Amino acid sequence: MKTQRLLLSTLASFMLAVTGAAQVAELGGVKVTLNGHQGPAVIQAERLEKFKLRVDVDPKGETKPLAIRVELPNAGPNAWPAADVEALDVNDKALLVQRTGIEWFKMLIPLPAGATTCFVQAVEPPGGWSKPASDKDRAIQDNVSGVKMRVAKWHDGRAAALSIRFDDSHPTQLTKAVPILREHGFRGTFMINPGASEPGSRRTSDFEQHRAEWEALAKQGDHEFANHSAHHRGGFGDEDMEAEIGEAAQAIWKMTPGKSRLTALNLGGGTRWDTTRTLRHYLDKYHHFDASENSTGMDDSYGNRVENFRRILDQHIQRGLWCRIHYHYIGDGLSSTEANFRAALDIAKQHASDLWIAGMADIHKYQTERNAAKLTLVKSDAKSITFQLDCATDATLYDQPLTLEFTPPVSWDASKTVLQSENGASVAAQPTSSKGDALLRFELPAKMAVYSIKLLP
Ligand SMILES: [Zn+2]
Repeated sequence: MKTQRLLLSTLASFMLAVTGAAQVAELGGVKVTLNGHQGPAVIQAERLEKFKLRVDVDPKGETKPLAIRVELPNAGPNAWPAADVEALDVNDKALLVQRTGIEWFKMLIPLPAGATTCFVQAVEPPGGWSKPASDKDRAIQDNVSGVKMRVAKWHDGRAAALSIRFDDSHPTQLTKAVPILREHGFRGTFMINPGASEPGSRRTSDFEQHRAEWEALAKQGDHEFANHSAHHRGGFGDEDMEAEIGEAAQAIWKMTPGKSRLTALNLGGGTRWDTTRTLRHYLDKYHHFDASENSTGMDDSYGNRVENFRRILDQHIQRGLWCRIHYHYIGDGLSSTEANFRAALDIAKQHASDLWIAGMADIHKYQTERNAAKLTLVKSDAKSITFQLDCATDATLYDQPLTLEFTPPVSWDASKTVLQSENGASVAAQPTSSKGDALLRFELPAKMAVYSIKLLP
C-alpha cells in the first residue's frame, strides 16, 4: 500500500491523467485538478460528505503560485447546488474563488502562499434545499362530493411555459424587439446593464444612452426586467461583486415601484467573478433567482436557429417544461436578423394555446409557489366542498396567482358552480373542458386561505 502511494505521488502528473476517471467517480463526479500545472506538485482529493471535499496539494518544491480547479457536476443525480458552494482554508476562513458568470459550478481556487489544504463545501440555506412537494399534496380527490381538483402545472392550465430573454440592453431591443413582441402579444424579459458609465472606463453604457426609453418601457409594465449586473464587466472581490449586483437590482426596483422585487439574475457569459461568498448570499440579499443555465441562445451564428427552436419548443410542450431562449441584438447584420426573430415568434404564436408565454420571474414564481403549495380537504357534502390552500412562499415576492383546476361531478351544473373565499367574496371561474369533462379554472393568490366551491340551487 505504502509503495503504491509513493509510486503514485512520484508519477503523479502522469498517474493523474491515467486515474482521472476513477478519481472522478470516487469524488461523486467532481473533477479536481491543479490548474495548468506542468511541474512537480501533486494534488489529492477526498470526499468527506455528499457535498464536502478535502483537497490537499503537495508542492514538491514548486515555488510558483498554484491554483486548484474544481468542476462540480451540475446535472444528474450527483449534481451539487453550485449557488451554495464555498471554499475554506484549514482555519475555516473563506477563500477567494474565481468563476465565470454563467458557469458557477466551475471553480478556480488560487492557493494563498503557504496553504496546502482547502475544503470545498455546499452550505445548506436556512430552511433547507427545496424539495418539490408531491403531486398528491397539490390535489384533492373527494369521494363524498365527487369533486376532483389540483393546482395546474402551469398558469391557466397551459402545457408548457416559454420565456423570451434579451441580454445586454442593446438599443435594437427598444426599436425592434419590443414592437415585434407587442405585435405578437408576448411578454419579454430584458436582462439589463443599468450601471452608469464608470470613470476611467472607455466602455460606454448602451443603457445610459437610452435611459429615458428604458424607463418609459418600465412604466408601460408589459415586459419584465432582470439583472445582468451593472456593467457586464465581472466583479473583483466581494465588495465589487456586491456593487455590480446591488446597483443593477436597485436600478430595476427604482424603475418598477410597487412591484415584487424578485427578478432573475444572470451575471453574463465571458465575465469573471472573484468572491469569497456563495452566490446564494447575493441571490438572497437582492431577491434574485439564478437564471444562468438551461437557456437556448438564438444568435444566428449558432446556425439553423428557427428550425432548432421549432424542435425544442415541441419537446418542451411534450414534456410540460419551461422553454427558455435568449437573444442579443435584433436587426439585419446583427446577432439575429429581424426575419429570424419574427419567424421564431410566429412559431410560438402557432403554439399559443399550449404555451404560457411570460416573463422569467413570472414563470419562476409560479413554479416555486406550486412546489410549495398544498391542498387540504376541510369538509364536503354532495353539493359543496371546503378546502385549504397552503403556500410556503413569501407573498410579497411571490405574487403570481396559482391556477386551480376543478372538475365537478357530472351531476353538477358547471354554470351554477361558484368559488367563495372565507369572507364570502366570489372568485370568477373560467369554464373550459378537458376531454369532454367540464373543467373550471380559478386564479387564487399564492397564500394560505380557505375556500368553498358549491353548486348553487
Ligand atoms: Zn450578456
